[in-house]
Amino acid sequence: MHIHSTASDGTDSPAQIVRLADDLGLEAIALTDHDTVDGLLEAQLVGQELGLEVIAGCELAARTPYGEMHIVGLWVNPEQSDFLELLAAQTKMRDERNREILALLSKLGIQIKIEELETGSGSVGRPHIARILCKRGFASSVSDAFKRYLGAGKRAYVPRKLMSPAEVLEVLKKNGATTVFAHPMSLPAPIEWVDNTLAVLGGDGLLDALEVYHPEHNQLKTATVMELVKKHHLLMSGGSDYHGKVKSNVSLGRGNGSLRVPAHFLDELKKKRG
Ligand code: AMP
Ligand code: FE
Ligand code: FE
Ligand code: ZN
Repeated sequence: MHIHSTASDGTDSPAQIVRLADDLGLEAIALTDHDTVDGLLEAQLVGQELGLEVIAGCELAARTPYGEMHIVGLWVNPEQSDFLELLAAQTKMRDERNREILALLSKLGIQIKIEELETGSGSVGRPHIARILCKRGFASSVSDAFKRYLGAGKRAYVPRKLMSPAEVLEVLKKNGATTVFAHPMSLPAPIEWVDNTLAVLGGDGLLDALEVYHPEHNQLKTATVMELVKKHHLLMSGGSDYHGKVKSNVSLGRGNGSLRVPAHFLDELKKKRG
């Protein structure tokens, strides 16, 4: 219930992902590209063809004192106006930020034109710039490009301008989506902060679920998230956060190998939707 395609920073097309999921025997998937719904129609068409359930999703980021909090919306309505406005604002901010990143790279003697980043649809970000840096020989891999230039604090780093978690969740709730705090243990926040934040967001009915199973969650982190789920009366979600070739150690449906997201997570999420 957490997958990226070429509509954002993954390397498999939406159609390829649905076929792969079907080959793997997955019962359902959610396509959750960053800041865009552009891959959903293609994925859902192939899903219908193959008889595989494809949930319309989207991953958004919000600002916290500890960095980006990622929020996955499931069963998003890709036509609702406030949500589309939020996506359009994100696209505009991404474009401005990409230009700032390219300006910093230019000062370092690396000339990349903004046109080289234009994909025509979907969302474009640092991974796309990283791939060009690799192609040009300025980095040996996408993660090397983050380490050298694009990652937080590096020479061509530009932070994103983001909304608060409550603001993002309000838009998603108004949209009718089920809301999931994605990979909560990846956020380097003190557990007290996470606990308080869940009390507020859960109490206000803005947050439905926590992503319990995720490749970045080891056994201990998974157990911690399960405790938080119980304490705050939330539901559970999980996913591989598959990005295709750029995260080659993470495979669809299986994460690092041991990932198993049980169907009852999906059943419980559906039950709450009524
Ligand atoms: P952006 O949305 O433009 O800020 O780029 C963030 C995306 O870059 C994430 O969704 C990841 O897919 C990818 N990413 C972030 N950090 C790294 C890293 N250290 N190595 C490789 N990919 C990364
Ligand atoms: Fe990503
Ligand atoms: Fe994420
Ligand atoms: Zn993701």
